[in-house]
Amino acid sequence: MTTPTRPVLRPGTEILGFSDVGVTYPNATPALEGVDLRVGAGEFVSVLGPSGCGKSTLLGLASGLATHTDGYMQTGTDRVGYVFQDATLLPWRTVAQNVEMLAELDGIGKSERRQRAQEAIDLVGLSGFEQSLPRELSGGMKMRVSLARSMTLEPELFLFDEPFGALDEITRQRLGDELLELFAAKRFAGLFITHSVAEAVYLSTRVVVMSGRPGRIVHTIDVPFDVPRHPEVRYSADYINLVGEVSQALEEAH
Ligand code: ADP
Repeated sequence: MTTPTRPVLRPGTEILGFSDVGVTYPNATPALEGVDLRVGAGEFVSVLGPSGCGKSTLLGLASGLATHTDGYMQTGTDRVGYVFQDATLLPWRTVAQNVEMLAELDGIGKSERRQRAQEAIDLVGLSGFEQSLPRELSGGMKMRVSLARSMTLEPELFLFDEPFGALDEITRQRLGDELLELFAAKRFAGLFITHSVAEAVYLSTRVVVMSGRPGRIVHTIDVPFDVPRHPEVRYSADYINLVGEVSQALEEAH
């Protein structure tokens, strides 16, 4: 990946604020309760919790697709990027055409969106693959296309729903490193859902652990390692201890 340059926002600008937020679905299922969470620019927050505890609901609230039924919430931006486990590429479009797609839907003119797409493609290390079709790409490359596609809208809030869950371990770690590089350069606010404690600790500035349904935040753990973060952090005693601490918190949450 080439090193990107432009940070998006001043660090600390509040992007996402939840105060005592609850969600009860129309069928009376209580999914979230009493959630307090603030995410500022330059913060990357991972969310861990048992299946069905409301992680996707939380992401839905942040994206504006779901509505809270209790409490108060606000988002400080409408420039929101999403990356899901499924890269959702259009199979008949080339890499370049897929990356341009969101900017196209957003009404950004042809030359501007071409430029943004090329910049994003370079940023995620896919230069040379612009004319490839999705079927010619590995799983990791498809995920890079998905990331690049979101980058074209220069998100200030980036939402991730287990984006690397379907990838093999080596690809997953590599993409984690690349995502950290992007984050270090752009300092968007990140909300990252994962089932991997090690990934959560490695990528984040903060990890929150949720209880079983209705989901509440039961532990918040600040991650003290600097950003930019070096891959060697993974082998440090401090990192290993923190992974242990978070794992224990997650076990207690079940
Ligand atoms: P997670 O992502 O942590 O697995 P979800 O946010 O998907 O959890 O779901 C939280 C709870 O809300 C689950 O019990 C789920 O079955 C329920 N749920 C999710 N979406 C709906 C919906 N549209 N209507 C009713 N219940 C829902």
